[in-house]
Amino acid sequence: MLYINGEWRQANSGETLDVINPATGDVLEQVASAGKEETKEAIEVANEAFSLWKNKTGAERGKYLMDIAQKMKSKTDSLAKTITLEMGKPLAEAKREVMSSIAYIEWYAEEAKRMYGETIPPSDPNKHLMLLREPIGVAAAITPWNFPMSMIARKIAPAIAAGCTIIIKPAPDTPLSAIRMFECFHEAGLPKGVANLLIGSAEEIGPELTGSSKVRKLTFTGSTAVGKMLIRDTANTVKNLSMELGGHAPFIVFEDADLDAAAEGAMATNFINNGQTCICTNRIYVKESIAEEFGKKLAEKTATLKIGNGMDEGTQVGPLINENSFNKVQSHVEDALKHNGKILCGGKPYERDDLKGYFFEPTVIASANDDMLIATEETFGPVAPIFTFKNEEEAIHKANDTPYGLAAYCFTKDLGRGLRMMNALEYGIVGINDAAPVTVQGPFGGYKESGIGREGGKSGILQYVEEKYVSIGMK
Ligand code: NAP
Repeated sequence: MLYINGEWRQANSGETLDVINPATGDVLEQVASAGKEETKEAIEVANEAFSLWKNKTGAERGKYLMDIAQKMKSKTDSLAKTITLEMGKPLAEAKREVMSSIAYIEWYAEEAKRMYGETIPPSDPNKHLMLLREPIGVAAAITPWNFPMSMIARKIAPAIAAGCTIIIKPAPDTPLSAIRMFECFHEAGLPKGVANLLIGSAEEIGPELTGSSKVRKLTFTGSTAVGKMLIRDTANTVKNLSMELGGHAPFIVFEDADLDAAAEGAMATNFINNGQTCICTNRIYVKESIAEEFGKKLAEKTATLKIGNGMDEGTQVGPLINENSFNKVQSHVEDALKHNGKILCGGKPYERDDLKGYFFEPTVIASANDDMLIATEETFGPVAPIFTFKNEEEAIHKANDTPYGLAAYCFTKDLGRGLRMMNALEYGIVGINDAAPVTVQGPFGGYKESGIGREGGKSGILQYVEEKYVSIGMK
């Protein structure tokens, strides 16, 4: 179903798309697939709603968000189940995603009341200078399938808290999480037109959103390749942009690290969400002298991960989202083997009679080198390649030698070294002895080709406001 102007409806064309369970290949539901006409309509209603919504107080907007969070809390289990069914991640991870989505909504419900402006010291005593913060206008949000609920929450919550109205286009692989979330918006009585949901093909919806001068903000989470295209597509209407793009995270382990903690952290960052996370580790760099010991520890831990349908109790690794993802993982492993990589565990598709989806064994590869595709391309799957380094300088150089700059991790017990690494790593998110740095109050986003802008924390809401400078003569 589409949600436009506070109403659930089908597509004008009657077109639908199938939502597939990636663990079984079964069709879960058919949902309406919007085209150009519905997109134009959504832009119109969001634009009309903006003039009313922006004039509500922050406290009023925050109250709606709190009510939405409440509705979502009361449905945590069924929302988690929806995520697992259409996306494949284990139910426990899906539940954490629902709770994280609620946390973002609550955070921005509170921030809505704190959209302070500033006074600026004048250089002329007869002038009064101010900075006002005003909502940008209609925002369009395009989101991926890997976190089908929290990627939407991170955008919609700060946008409507700031006074913007919004149109969401979720990934067509995972529209049900978006629909269930919008049901909560509807039940919370969010005024019509404030949040609108368009499910459908990027070719139909994308150009209408990027080309419309009424859409003043585009916020996108997805691949760097599509992000670059959207930057080009929005050039004619010079939109305010937030881009949360791809990553290629290094994970550096020094000889003085707590090796068990580092191996545990590497496993978590490699295999969470089956490796389909933008801040998943892509390159593990280990000091030469401890590489063998570290590889053994990581492989031992990895081999214990339970693969299966995310709906089954105890599953830790689910299926990949689709055939393309599966093929990419397989080709990266084959290429690594061609370039003298050594499989320490995993390395092949996972097959079981009751599973029909795209399952691949969590894989650890030693003797990784820069000739491998995996050294430069985002795998987006359960593969952990171990590279080695000789000294700190080389580790820094290798870690930064990429167009990406989203997340980096470093394990060391030497405080001075930890601080040097913190400063040297050209990344928007750095975890020192911490493989799980993401939290609602922290800004999330990348350097270089990993993006523009930040989500979360104080920065998140500022992505949805314009700064108006006012100078008042007092004579
Ligand atoms: P994707 O292929 O870039 O797609 C993301 C979204 O963009 C989907 O909704 C897609 O819809 C839409 N899209 C594609 N082409 C479009 C166009 N021309 N106009 C408008 N919309 C368009 O990425 P993905 O495979 O879904 O997600 C994986 C990528 O996202 C990885 O690179 C990952 O690192 C990145 N990611 C980044 C973050 C972050 O915060 N930095 C978080 C999560 C994921 P269609 O499917 O209909 O094309």
